[in-house]
Amino acid sequence: MSVKDLLETVIGLVNEHNAWRLTRAINMIASENVMSPLALKAYVSDFMFRYAEGKPFKRYYQGTKYIDELEVLTEKVIGSLIGSSMVELRPTSGTLANAAVFRVLAEPGDAAVIAPVQAGAHVSHTRFGTLGALSIRQVDMPYDAENMNVDVDGAVKLIREVRPKFAVLGGSVYLFPHPVKEIAEAVHEVGGKLVYDAAHVFGLICGKAWPNPLERGADVMTASTHKTFPGPQGGLIAFRDEQLYKAVGKTVFPWFVSNHHLHRIPATLITALEMKEYGEEYAHQIVRNSRRLAEELSARGFKVLGERLGYTRSHQVVVNVRELGGGAWAAKTLEEADIIVNKNLLPMDPPEAVKDPSGIRIGTQEVTRLGMKEGEMEVIADFLYRLLIKREEPQKVREEVHAFRKGYMEVKYSLKEDRLITVLDLLK
Ligand SMILES: *Cc1c(COP(=O)(O)O)cnc(C)c1O
Repeated sequence: MSVKDLLETVIGLVNEHNAWRLTRAINMIASENVMSPLALKAYVSDFMFRYAEGKPFKRYYQGTKYIDELEVLTEKVIGSLIGSSMVELRPTSGTLANAAVFRVLAEPGDAAVIAPVQAGAHVSHTRFGTLGALSIRQVDMPYDAENMNVDVDGAVKLIREVRPKFAVLGGSVYLFPHPVKEIAEAVHEVGGKLVYDAAHVFGLICGKAWPNPLERGADVMTASTHKTFPGPQGGLIAFRDEQLYKAVGKTVFPWFVSNHHLHRIPATLITALEMKEYGEEYAHQIVRNSRRLAEELSARGFKVLGERLGYTRSHQVVVNVRELGGGAWAAKTLEEADIIVNKNLLPMDPPEAVKDPSGIRIGTQEVTRLGMKEGEMEVIADFLYRLLIKREEPQKVREEVHAFRKGYMEVKYSLKEDRLITVLDLLK
């Protein structure tokens, strides 16, 4: 293919994707979000071309005086949202944040006790992911199916037996907060630390709609900056323990990142300011929306998990679609109507069911950012009912999805400011 043809192709694919996901689709992947136009403008800056290895004001390169100031300021503003004066922004993803923390807390061969996959553990907490890469032994806490959570008494007993270097709570698929206080006490008793992985719920924590693990005994919190916290893709670590803060700071660079993708920093800062201004309103609306969506789905005959416990306290709704056709079929069918969710293992699924698990996971954080409230959750529940239970043609429902989506084209809970000059204004 010629350059001209390839250029044609790339332009076509990018334009199609943007138009699809930003103007036509209802995005309900629970780990995604959209940035505000202002944060986006700050993202497209010269910082994306630059390096700044090391900590602010102690870099290994010249040319970093502005990023030094921005990085310290971002640490401060995020710290003020979560009550921590020790924030590390350089991990370029949540997984790398976990890697840096795990590696400092344990040596190869040591044990870590983790919330089990049924309670939402992310692959990075397991032998198949970061824990395995670091040769740290994975020991699972027992699961309490009735409360859809870690079995607290069993986990405390296990921690006393195993005496792990650290325990991990927090997850990718969880509806209810994990028992931070009890696990922190048990792991501290045996000289270990508690890591809380807040990748999914970081925005909810900033907005005070989810319990802050650092206030309940966790020694360290890792997070992604692009899930319920609606910033650019990236990671961060917040600490309560100064020794740990210093030790991890020395390993992020040079062990896990060299360049930390500087253009994330001002965009993360603007998002943090938006969370300072609107975070509480936004986070509580997310939770109200997911609850309402769960109720509306249940009223239409869906098997929504967590009914006895009020369905959800997070941005997620989990639905058992096994009898309707399975998670793979449901997610694919919804995609044909431009409603984007992911298939998911349910607590009772065997691990080999990953390709066709029983569930779908639905997140309300992005549609909430676009201004949707409880009434709109009813409309979405209706789309799901027509597609998955009534089995109407996806192509037919899709037109209505597009018409509905047109009403939500503005990013809410965001700051406005005209003076920011982007790299596109300068580089011709
Ligand atoms: C998404 C997620 C991560 C990984 O974050 P990335 O930024 O994608 O690397 C880590 N932990 C949990 C619990 C997650 O859900």
